[in-house]
Amino acid sequence: LFIDQPLAEGHLVEAAPGQAHHIGTVLRRGPGDAVRLFNPRDGEWDATIEAIRKDRARFAIGAQARPPAAEPECRLLVAALKRDAMDWVVEKATELGATLIQPVLTRRTVADRANAARLSAIARGAAEQCERLSVPEVAEAVPLHRLLDGWDGAPLVVAMERSQARPLRELARPEGAPLALLVGPEGGFAEAELDDLRRRPFVVPAALGPRILRAETAAVAGLAALQALMGD
Ligand code: SAM
Repeated sequence: LFIDQPLAEGHLVEAAPGQAHHIGTVLRRGPGDAVRLFNPRDGEWDATIEAIRKDRARFAIGAQARPPAAEPECRLLVAALKRDAMDWVVEKATELGATLIQPVLTRRTVADRANAARLSAIARGAAEQCERLSVPEVAEAVPLHRLLDGWDGAPLVVAMERSQARPLRELARPEGAPLALLVGPEGGFAEAELDDLRRRPFVVPAALGPRILRAETAAVAGLAALQALMGD
């Protein structure tokens, strides 16, 4: 369970809202049962449920199970998608080690599709399920041009169809650079956006095979391929 409070042996900590219901009703655990608590600062700790009610739970922390570990930076920037597709991308990107999930507003994106609070809860659940020690940040959606203007200069792999880019596997990763992938919306990037992207010195266009992938497939497959070819 992700607990955003200091974790140390002998401490008592409270569950976040919603967690007590999940533990008691969904997982059917009760007082004295074992749980594991984690956060990126303190790592993972064995704990027991000291008290549990419908909306509250308290845990007594025991020994440390895993120390905190630094995670390589891996940013996924994806044009905001329809709700179900976005939820799926956030869950899978969390499993694949994304440290930041940044919804992006493009010309062909509808603005109100990315709810950062709901998506953060999905990321937290996915991190718990895959035994990650951290939860990726899910940022508020930003317009593409603002994102590019404020970019830190790290190589940004932009998923583009094969007519517009070389295959990802042919690209060399600059030594030590963090991973970052940008995927366009269901309707694709507009011509002016593609021109803008190509003018930016940090943009690295990359194709993910000969077929046209749905945006959510491109985000997850692209992240997996990037991790496999260039990740730590
Ligand atoms: N007809 C649209 C176009 O002209 O771009 C198709 C958009 S596609 C459904 C959505 C996004 O997924 C694209 O903007 C691109 O980022 C990514 N994508 C889809 N297939 C891809 C491929 N084979 N290689 C790289 N990126 C791809």
